[in-house]
Amino acid sequence: MSISLHGIGIGGGIAIGRAHLVSQADIEIDHYMLHDADVPAEQVRYDAAIRHARQELEQLWGSIPENAPTELGAFLSLHIMLLNDHTLSRDPRDLIAEQKCNAEWALQQQLDSLLAQFDEIEEEYLRERRADVIQVADRIFKALAGHDALAPLPVPNAGDGILVAHDLSPADMVLFKDSQYVAFITDVGGPTSHTAILARSLDLPSVLALRHARAMIRDGETIIVDGVNGMVIVDPDEGILAEYRARQDQWQVKKDALQGILKKKAVTRDGTEIELFANIELPDDSEQALGNGAAGIGLFRSEFLFLKEDDLPTEEEQFEAYKQVAEAMGKKPIIIRTIDLGKDKIPKWQEEVETPNPALGLTGIRLCLAEPQLFRTQLRALLRASAFGKIKLLIPMLSHVGEIRQIRRHLDEVAAQLAEEGIAFDTQIELGGMIEVPAAAVTVASFLAQLDFVSIGTNDLIQYTLAVDRNDDAVNHLYDPLHPAVISLLGHVIDTANRMEKPVSMCGEMAGDPALTRLLLGLGLRRFSMLPAQLLKVKQQVLSTDLDKIRDLIDAMRNSADADELRNLLAQLNA
Ligand code: PEP
Ligand code: MG
Repeated sequence: MSISLHGIGIGGGIAIGRAHLVSQADIEIDHYMLHDADVPAEQVRYDAAIRHARQELEQLWGSIPENAPTELGAFLSLHIMLLNDHTLSRDPRDLIAEQKCNAEWALQQQLDSLLAQFDEIEEEYLRERRADVIQVADRIFKALAGHDALAPLPVPNAGDGILVAHDLSPADMVLFKDSQYVAFITDVGGPTSHTAILARSLDLPSVLALRHARAMIRDGETIIVDGVNGMVIVDPDEGILAEYRARQDQWQVKKDALQGILKKKAVTRDGTEIELFANIELPDDSEQALGNGAAGIGLFRSEFLFLKEDDLPTEEEQFEAYKQVAEAMGKKPIIIRTIDLGKDKIPKWQEEVETPNPALGLTGIRLCLAEPQLFRTQLRALLRASAFGKIKLLIPMLSHVGEIRQIRRHLDEVAAQLAEEGIAFDTQIELGGMIEVPAAAVTVASFLAQLDFVSIGTNDLIQYTLAVDRNDDAVNHLYDPLHPAVISLLGHVIDTANRMEKPVSMCGEMAGDPALTRLLLGLGLRRFSMLPAQLLKVKQQVLSTDLDKIRDLIDAMRNSADADELRNLLAQLNA
C-alpha cells in the first residue's frame, strides 16, 4: 500500500525511481578505562584519526568538480575549520589524559557537551551548524574505527536512483554531483541548512526534513519525489505512477519551453520593456546569470567575500573580485551592494561581538559607517573596478537620509585620493540605496532626492514591516508578501520613484517569484532582480502579461485591506 510523507520541498521538479538507502547506522561507541601507561598511545591514536579525517577532507576539497555549486567549497572549508578547532582536535585528547578513557569515549563526551551548547543557540543559521559538528565528529569516529568515511555512495541503476539519507554532508554532495542519482531525500535539514542551500543550487528534485523517511522506506522500493510540493510517495500504485509521469512530462515541457524564450526580449504584450537582472553572491555566479539571459547584475551581495575567509579580504582581493564580474558582464550594468554584514551574516572576526537584537543592531551601512576603514577600503576597491565595467553602488539598510551625506563624504574623499594617485575610475559612478526598512519606504521621496536609484529589498522590508524574523520557522506563517501593508508600501515606493523619474528596482525574493510578477508589473515595477534560476520563469510571465487588461484587478488589490481577498484577486490576476 502506498504511503505519502511530507517535508520541505526544495524544488527541481518530480522524480520517480528506486530508493537507495545510505546506511548511517550509528557506530557502537566502546567505553573502557586505560592504564596510566597506555594514555600517550591512546592520544597518538586520536591524533592519527584527526590527521586521517583532515586528509580525507583535503582530498575532497581537491576533487570538487568545476561545475559544483560555489557553496560546496564553503561548506567543506567549514568542516576543515571545525576539525582544526581545539574543541575537536585538542580537547578530547586532554579528556583521554584526565579521565583515562579511550579515545571514542572522550570524543563522545566532548560531542555531547558541544551539542548541548548548540541547543541553547537561538539563531537558526548557527543552530543548524550543529549538523556540521556531528558530521565532522562522525568522520573522526570512523577514522578511529579504521573505516574510510569516503566510501563511495552506492551506485544506482543508470538514471533511476533516489538517495535516501538521514542527512547529506558537503562531502556527500561532492560524490553526489558525480553520481547518477536523479533525486534525494533526507530525514533532517531546515530551510537554511547547508543541505537546503546546496540542494537548491543542484536544481534536482529533493525533499528534506521528512523525519522518518529511512524507517518507512525499504531499499529498492519505488518512490516518487515531488520537490515542488515537498512530498514523497512510497510504493505508489499504477494510477498514482501514471499521474506523476504525466506531471513529470508537463514539468519537462515547461522547462524546455523556457529555453525557447532565452533570447527573447522581456516585453509585455502591450509593448512595455522590462529589465530582468540577476542576484549573485560570488564573482563566478556571473556565468549562471549570463547563461539565463540576465540584462545585468541587479544585486551582488559583496559581503559574501567577507564571509568566505577568516580574515578580511584586502583591497586588492576585493578589486580583483569586482573586476572579474565587471569584465564578465561586458557593457551590462552591475549593481554592487556595499558590505551588508550583521544579522545572520556574521564573519569570523565579528563572532565575539554580543548584540542584544542583531536585526536591529549594527548591520549593513550602520556597521560600515561605524568602521570607516572597512568601508573606505571597499569603496577604493569598487571605484578602481569601476574603470573596467558599468559598476553602480548600492547601500543596504538605509534608515536615515543623513546616512547618505556621510556616505557621499567617504566616497568623495576616496575618489579624491584615487585621483591624486592617478588611478582611473568612473567619476560619475551612480549611488543607489536599498529600501528595506519601513521608515525609508514611507519617506522614500527624501531618499530618492539624494540618490541616483533605489532597489527594494522585500526580504527585509517584509520582516521589519510585519515584525517577523525571516529566519525563524516558528513565525514563518506570518511572513506574508501579500499583507496589505506590504502591498501599500511597495505601491508607494514604486509610484514615488516613477513620479520623480528615478529608477526603481526590486531585488528581494518577491522579484523572483513568478506568481507575483503580474502584481509587481501592475504596481509599476519595470526592473526586477532575482536568482539566475528564476529569470526565465519570470520572463515567461512578463511575456504573457497585458498591462491594460490587469489595471482593474490591480486597483482592487491596492484598495484591499484583507489578505484573503488579496489572495483571491491574485489568483484571478494569474488566471
Ligand atoms: C532583501 O532584504 O530583500 C535583500 C535583497 O537583501 P538580503 O536578502 O541580502 O538581506
Ligand atoms: Mg536585506
